Amino acid sequence: MQGLMQDQQLLISSLIEFANRFHGDAEIVSRRVEGDIHRYTYRDLTARAKQLANALDGLKLAHGDRVASLAWNGYRHMEMYYGVSGSGRVLHTINPRLHPEQIAWIVNHAEDQVLCFDTTFLPLIQAVHAKCPTVRQWVALCDADKLPTDSGIPGLVSYEAWIAGQSKNYRWPQLDENTASSMCYTSGTTGNPKAVLYSHRSSVLHAYGAALPDVMNLSARDAVLPVVPMFHVNAWGLPYSAALTGAKVVFPGPALDGKSLYDLIEAEGVTFAAGVPTVWQMLLTHMQQGGLKFSHLNRTVIGGSACPPAMIDTFEDTYGVRVLHAWGMTEMSPLGTLGTLKNKHLALPKEQQRKILQKQGRPIYGVDMRIVDSDGRDQPWDGKACGDLLVRGPWILDTYYKGASPLVKDEEGRGWFPTGDVATIDPDGYMQITDRTKDVIKSGGEWISSIDIENIAMGHPAVAMAACIGMPHPKWDERPIVAVAKKAGAEVSREELLAFFDGKTAKWQIPDDVVFVDAIPLGATGKMLKTKLREQLAGYKLP
Ligand code: ADP
Repeated sequence: MQGLMQDQQLLISSLIEFANRFHGDAEIVSRRVEGDIHRYTYRDLTARAKQLANALDGLKLAHGDRVASLAWNGYRHMEMYYGVSGSGRVLHTINPRLHPEQIAWIVNHAEDQVLCFDTTFLPLIQAVHAKCPTVRQWVALCDADKLPTDSGIPGLVSYEAWIAGQSKNYRWPQLDENTASSMCYTSGTTGNPKAVLYSHRSSVLHAYGAALPDVMNLSARDAVLPVVPMFHVNAWGLPYSAALTGAKVVFPGPALDGKSLYDLIEAEGVTFAAGVPTVWQMLLTHMQQGGLKFSHLNRTVIGGSACPPAMIDTFEDTYGVRVLHAWGMTEMSPLGTLGTLKNKHLALPKEQQRKILQKQGRPIYGVDMRIVDSDGRDQPWDGKACGDLLVRGPWILDTYYKGASPLVKDEEGRGWFPTGDVATIDPDGYMQITDRTKDVIKSGGEWISSIDIENIAMGHPAVAMAACIGMPHPKWDERPIVAVAKKAGAEVSREELLAFFDGKTAKWQIPDDVVFVDAIPLGATGKMLKTKLREQLAGYKLP
């Protein structure tokens, strides 16, 4: 027997229509590429997203055609999130930190027809546009009078001139909820990037899940600052979850340095911020140097790579900000797990609570997970046994666009996505990432977690960033060493740092050596690039 409820499709356009109707005067504030602050409301955003949809109709773009963005976090980018996807096209957010060759490859692979870019990226577009024959309209995300002259880009228009004459009325198409809505390429540290194609349904369900109290706990009383870029898995879905809750949104634009972020957080009463650890490191340094405090910020979600426990402690103990440690992937829209306590933990001493919150957290409803050994056998959930982490759920990838399905089948024929991460799960369902499969260090038949070693090193006050990698060893197969970038003006010797590990981990897990480097190489999404670090240390020999 079928249920007798209304069959309403879950569409991205319904999010902005909801925000427009019930939170029409809630603000969207953006620091622009020009440096000034722009502010308007969900009502304005909706009207302009409709103008954009009309402009796309004017180009005779079919449903499913790809419209690309190469842009910072800002209001025009958010208009694209709704105008492009809402009108049935696919928003392809491109990571500008990729190599130009990779960008051209991605544009061709996605067959983008329109590409809208912030003027910051004009030199990049000038370098690649001739290699992108599918693009028939180039759009600079700027005012008409700021349109670069003599850019050499054929038919270049300014976004403002392009949408200016368009009607603010638009009837959003009633699409099937499984229609593609946006796409994002994985960062491609090995080989060409792979494309993840999200749907309206997966995006709306993810937006619901992300807003839950045990996840980001978003509400109409929040002012949300997505520092995580909108080209990095849809800024972790925040442009959708914010509309779903009616939260105020504050966009940082290109200014991601500590001072700019701090000033914006304070000026706009930001209550909730989201970003990767490297960005927060810059913010904390700025605050420490100036003896500053937050007046409204009360929680921050940190993910993308492991959040060092020392960072969680600083946020909580010095600034009264609750850190929500989250884990996810481009293939997971991206949220998989997030760390919050259960009722039974409330009476525990603070140190024990902190130990729980240092893990990557519990699955959000909708995400299921397993850890398995190399033969695919389930490993116990005892918080000790490691295994390859597999996940499934309605906002998790099935098949790459123009690619294969990486899913592995269980005995019931259900597909699981292999994350490439190695993790433990404890009896309460808290998951802890110990490594990427390719980064695990195997010493004498035992595994050493590079993340554990990095977390300890980053607890030393002189250490800005630490990366642990395995080096070939004749007896033990591999031994860990730790590459360390010191904080500006701080000093620590190799011996002092090695002694710092005493008592914090098993003796055989302590690195064999410390190598000081100027900086740890970072990839396009701000994560440590261990492949590059290994190249840099090519001639290195263990002591
Ligand atoms: P995202 O774009 O969300 O960072 P990517 O697809 O680029 O996702 O990378 C996902 C990988 O990043 C994960 O498989 C995992 O290795 C790593 N990662 C993400 N969050 C965390 C975290 N909190 N702790 C440790 N590793 C993480």
